[in-house]
Amino acid sequence: MSLSNSLVQQDLSSHIHPFTNLARHKEVGPTVIEKGDGVYVIDNNGRSYIEAMSGLWSVALGFSEDRLVKAATQQMETLPYYHSFTHKTHAPAIKLAAKLAELAPGDLNHVHFTNSGSEANDTVIKLVWYMNNALGRPQKKKFLARQQGYHGSTIASASLTGLPRSHRDFDLPAIPVRHLTAPYFYRFGLSGETEAEFVERLAQELETVIDEEGPETIAAFIGEPVIAAGGVIPAPEGYWQRVEAICRQHDIVLIADEIITAFGRLGTMFGCQYYGFQPDIMVLSKQLTSSYQPLAAIVISDAISEVLTENSGRIGSFAHGFTTTGHPVATAVALENLNIIEERQLVDHAKVVGARLQAGLNGLASHPLVGDVRTVGLMGGVELVADKETRRMFDPRGALGGYIFRQAHEHGLIVRNIYDTIAFCPPLIISEKHVSTVIDAFAGTLDDAAKWVRAEDLK
Ligand code: PMP
Repeated sequence: MSLSNSLVQQDLSSHIHPFTNLARHKEVGPTVIEKGDGVYVIDNNGRSYIEAMSGLWSVALGFSEDRLVKAATQQMETLPYYHSFTHKTHAPAIKLAAKLAELAPGDLNHVHFTNSGSEANDTVIKLVWYMNNALGRPQKKKFLARQQGYHGSTIASASLTGLPRSHRDFDLPAIPVRHLTAPYFYRFGLSGETEAEFVERLAQELETVIDEEGPETIAAFIGEPVIAAGGVIPAPEGYWQRVEAICRQHDIVLIADEIITAFGRLGTMFGCQYYGFQPDIMVLSKQLTSSYQPLAAIVISDAISEVLTENSGRIGSFAHGFTTTGHPVATAVALENLNIIEERQLVDHAKVVGARLQAGLNGLASHPLVGDVRTVGLMGGVELVADKETRRMFDPRGALGGYIFRQAHEHGLIVRNIYDTIAFCPPLIISEKHVSTVIDAFAGTLDDAAKWVRAEDLK
């Protein structure tokens, strides 16, 4: 048996994959990715794919950035591990906290680390609860989130997530949370309603929910500036300003889950800057290290930080953290990653290549399968429909998206399907030429899909 075959066999017999149909995996087997090269990855059969999803929306610098390897190696050789409990710390965590405080807008000046985005959102829930206990308002604990939002997979962060399959079968949500309508105009805008009227209706819904629950019971509102894993849904104009104003009015902490949108994805350093609102807490991960190391960061306002500090002085300590919180190798890699993003002006670059991606995807809008093209910065979603006029989805939902996900491989392309929306989120370093490669490969895949729909008689 060849090495690659034995790898496949071992995977099938011993590896349980995340977010995978495990029964189907036994039939189709794994794609074993062996190497990275810029915006390409190469599988164990030597086949290369242009990675139009940056892995999981995260590999800003592509798959072969030597400087990140050097930063990790150097830190491993100097101090491979130390913690930050009980007054200890180390230079990379300090420098990264200072750097993020400098980059973050407004009074977001204080940073706490975790290992993953899910842990970060769990930690944010605890922080907000801790804060309201300290402020003597223990009843102010409920969270507001959105349907289609994605905030993680741990028990509490998955409770914030607004996707049925993250709740069904897992007995979630397990924390007090209400999910509001997603700002998804294409699907949830009413016939004849303008986008501005839609935003107003969502604002009314938010006010009504706050009123029903009682503002004294609502701790926080969490949202991704652009809903990503739930379907690539950029916020309509004015949406975030309305949410921000309503949160301020009721003393509700506004949390921007910037795990995908931070560090240039929208052509601005942070997504809240693109939309022009100021959160009280910002959650960062993914492009923070280009995912070369697991790391997330929570950036909190002066006011929240003051409460935490004052209260822990009263009760003895802020009793929360993980063994590898602010890991030296991960924080050293993040620092170098941010240096490179700044040196190479990748935030501005994202704007330029983003415009090219947007033009390319919009150019496919007339394709018979394409219902909606949604783009913002260097990210896009193409929603496929059975009927362009009525916006009817194919039945079963996701079958066509699944076909495109697999068929794209034949065109040397990696995309992701969210049911029948195809997502694009290439590395920030992508060139205009490589954006064209992505668009051409996707156009070819769409043509195959049209033939497949006819052959399968998919309706
Ligand atoms: N929030 C958002 C917006 C995300 O996109 C993700 C990951 N896709 C998470 C939270 C969870 O992060 P992690 O997978 O690192 O736990």
